[in-house]
Amino acid sequence: MHDETKCLHSGYKPKNTEPRVMPVVQSTTYVFDSTDDIGEVFNDPTKNLIYSRFANPTVMAVEAKIADLEGGIGAMCTSSGQAACLLSILNLCSAGDSFISTSHIYGGTINLFAFTLKKQGIECIFVSADASEDEINAAFKENTKAVFGETLANPALSVLDIEKFAKAAHSHNVPLIIDNTFATPVLCKPFSHGADIVVHSTTKYMDGHALQVGGVIVDSGNFNWSNGNFPDFTGPDESYHGIAYTDTYGKSAYIIKARMQLMRDYGVYPAAHSAFLLNLGLETLAIRMERHCENGLKAARFLESQNAVESVMYPGLESNRYYGLAKKYLKGTGGVISFVIKGGKENAVRFMDALVLASNQVHVCDIRTCVLHPASATHRQLSDNQLTAAGINPGMVRLSVGLENINDIIDDLAQAFRSIAATA
Ligand SMILES: *Cc1c(COP(=O)(O)O)cnc(C)c1O
Repeated sequence: MHDETKCLHSGYKPKNTEPRVMPVVQSTTYVFDSTDDIGEVFNDPTKNLIYSRFANPTVMAVEAKIADLEGGIGAMCTSSGQAACLLSILNLCSAGDSFISTSHIYGGTINLFAFTLKKQGIECIFVSADASEDEINAAFKENTKAVFGETLANPALSVLDIEKFAKAAHSHNVPLIIDNTFATPVLCKPFSHGADIVVHSTTKYMDGHALQVGGVIVDSGNFNWSNGNFPDFTGPDESYHGIAYTDTYGKSAYIIKARMQLMRDYGVYPAAHSAFLLNLGLETLAIRMERHCENGLKAARFLESQNAVESVMYPGLESNRYYGLAKKYLKGTGGVISFVIKGGKENAVRFMDALVLASNQVHVCDIRTCVLHPASATHRQLSDNQLTAAGINPGMVRLSVGLENINDIIDDLAQAFRSIAATA
């Protein structure tokens, strides 16, 4: 089936007289006929529901839908995108291990990788998203257990050469993890380019309506965990009566281990009602993405034509350095555009404050057009010099183009440009 159809039908197929819509199963727990039956589930928790910290029917329906959209064999939802990124690494790395990540990633993920995981003894080795194969290969250490990157980076909007990173990862017998948040499975299917694990912040386009924070980890089922590099997968798990994940669960070892060890212990499972709301967003994801891409490209072309604009970062523009990679990996380039206004921070702030339709908010990939000024918000503590060092131009605006009529969006941008010109 095609994505539009999967968005509506995957994950839940009602039988005779069952509800048309996946119900919210609002229950922490499940009833068993006997103590023995409960004992059985503790022997193998994948056989039945135990407790809503591990799994819940409403969340499971969403997990199955997302796994189907990505072409994976299983998925696990988390209470945020941050939690998905965290668990995707903790499922592979312990204190004393390292992993490689490109530096073009979401700011929150940089904090997690560079500071918080470091305190726990896990080292992140950063490489450029544009690194050559030799440069990536040179970054590996004996203890490197994974490679991480973003398909379409937030907010750099660079496009990752997924096949190049997958090749480097696989030649060192480790998996490639891709954060596919900005692209969504509708615009890119990282598994078909060699990625092994995909993570998302479902908070963004998947939800789309700005209703709830969430994340998901998806397993391709393709990585060979028995290659000698992952004893936690092949050896006995002391915390689970000596189970060996590869022996018992075969191709699903990664995603089942994530649930049985990490979800059990960290407890970052979403609520059933959150999954219900996420599902409403997913139902229209494929058709929403088409319009986000169409509006995004028109808005980027408009911005490129403006005298007040110094540069536009949007890989759908022929002038963009990632245009070729975007053509190769993406069905469309989404609705997020970063651009730099001439006149630095002062003009960027005046421009943004003059916008009427586009709201100022700490969010992105919303159905409503919104803007964020990184230098005043996420990177506020930095001086102009520090901002430049961090690759953030003080005049940079991140525009997330929504689903309003594109003429209204462009009119709003145009009147804000006129307003800063008039007061210049
Ligand atoms: C927002 C975001 C995250 C973090 O997700 P939350 O749902 O906010 O926790 C991770 N990766 C990317 C690319 C993001 O845009």
